[in-house]
Amino acid sequence: MSLIQSINLNFLGASKLNQTYQLDIYRGDLEHAKAPGNKWHKLRHHLKAAEQQNAKYIGSLGGPYSNHLHALAASLADRDEQAILLVRGELQAGLTPTLQDAVADGAELWPSQRSDFRLGLEADVVKHISQLYPAIYWVPEGGGGVLGAEGCADWANTIGAISGQYSAWAIAAGTGTTAAGILSSEACPKLEVFSALKGMAQQRVEIISLAANIAKQEDDLQHISDRLGFHDDAHLGGYAKLPLELTMFLKAFFEANPYVELDPVYTSKVFFSLWHKMKNGAWPHAKTLMIHTGGMQGWRGYASHQTPF
Ligand SMILES: *Cc1c(COP(=O)(O)O)cnc(C)c1O
Repeated sequence: MSLIQSINLNFLGASKLNQTYQLDIYRGDLEHAKAPGNKWHKLRHHLKAAEQQNAKYIGSLGGPYSNHLHALAASLADRDEQAILLVRGELQAGLTPTLQDAVADGAELWPSQRSDFRLGLEADVVKHISQLYPAIYWVPEGGGGVLGAEGCADWANTIGAISGQYSAWAIAAGTGTTAAGILSSEACPKLEVFSALKGMAQQRVEIISLAANIAKQEDDLQHISDRLGFHDDAHLGGYAKLPLELTMFLKAFFEANPYVELDPVYTSKVFFSLWHKMKNGAWPHAKTLMIHTGGMQGWRGYASHQTPF
């Protein structure tokens, strides 16, 4: 199966969208069997740095359904380092499927109080774990930072090498690290970013500055900024909210595109927003490549009646 597929846009009463727009998808979700999507790319340079420091443990933080924690545990399953996962909130007796997978991959779990967790790598429990395991390398929440973005710049170069010409690429954002890495690569023509969180308008400048920070050439900020489109109106009520209108949209989308799978938190909101902009004639690009960032395991955080398949 090709990693680049075209999307059928003619559903939910739209019959001419396929004539006006070409929308393709890069199936990042099919790249890696155990750690699909962007998280593995964000981790690659961190794993190298951990190796250079002879770390025996790699620690990170996230929520009980975190794609990042899931990918970290999966990436370490066949390596010498052990994953130490600091989970937001108390550990429940019935672990989430995400954390069950992580434990099966050899990870050790630590609970945290939300107030402490909020401090990220400055949390007391992080200091405590670091004392118990001196040979630990910490990855920031979500695998962010310069090293995370650099892995995504490499990813963009790979995608550019196998894809044709597009007027723009489109991607979801949480921390914006993946978007910054991709934007820093000249392989990406123009990047349309859709935030999965509410109230993120200020993230645009953060993406630009991180992209400029790692860009290979002495790219001026203007050039990077000109290539970025940022959408803070695609969250559909907020992070991980799955309103009925999105479930209905996904049902129709999957009927029209039976081979494509989307995750509930990020990629499905990109398509919801893109499709509506296209339907309203408000999308500026004739030929778009959407980068699928994975996250299918996140469906396990929703009830079956909310699931469109
Ligand atoms: C984490 C994640 C993102 C967001 O990546 P950032 O680098 O934090 O912006 C997008 N899509 C999926 C499926 C993810 O798991």
